[in-house]
Amino acid sequence: MRILLVEDELRIASFIQRGLKEEDYVVDVAHDGEKGLYLAEINPYDLIILDIILPVKDGVSVCRELRRKKINAPILMLTSKDGVRDKVLGLNSGADDYLAKPFDFEELLARIAALLRRNKIDKTGLLKVADLELDRTRHKVARAGKDIVLTSKEFALLEYLMDNAGHAVTRTMISEHVWHEDFDNFTNVIDVYMSFLRSKIDKGHKKQLIHTIHGKGYIVKEA
Ligand code: CA
Repeated sequence: MRILLVEDELRIASFIQRGLKEEDYVVDVAHDGEKGLYLAEINPYDLIILDIILPVKDGVSVCRELRRKKINAPILMLTSKDGVRDKVLGLNSGADDYLAKPFDFEELLARIAALLRRNKIDKTGLLKVADLELDRTRHKVARAGKDIVLTSKEFALLEYLMDNAGHAVTRTMISEHVWHEDFDNFTNVIDVYMSFLRSKIDKGHKKQLIHTIHGKGYIVKEA
């Protein structure tokens, strides 16, 4: 997997680059927006990490230009701490996800893995974990052949978990992807919805499919 990192702060850039190399990603670094754009045009990347505030050309402009040029690699935008406006701008300009600085490296790795997986999945397809099936097109969920009625929020939550089946998703990821809101206000809400979802999906079944990972988040998996 080859990743392009566009980040002007040298210390952060080398920290991310080093960490990603340890995870066996190949990483190219550009320190300004124009160089980043140039590298993205001449090399095939599996993913682009794009800082929003960059010299020469800012991240939002780079993102727009990449999409205009039909470069469709997933883009993870790095925003400032309270940059709600940055996030909206970033997502409107064609970014797939955003992460506010400062972030945990673990969180960055989880986002990257999720984006790389999502990029491979057919968005119209059927998601399946053990005997649990989620049909995106028909908006239906069934376990062991029996239909399960979910609210639209529960459906979105389960879809996100199943999209990432076998991999832990953090509460931050859930709040941003399913609620499109910042984390802090949503911890309890997420836990409440998870318990609704659990009782609908796992109750009465021998095998539990939704698991809690302490201090991390949730995972959908077979065992
Ligand atoms: Ca910057």
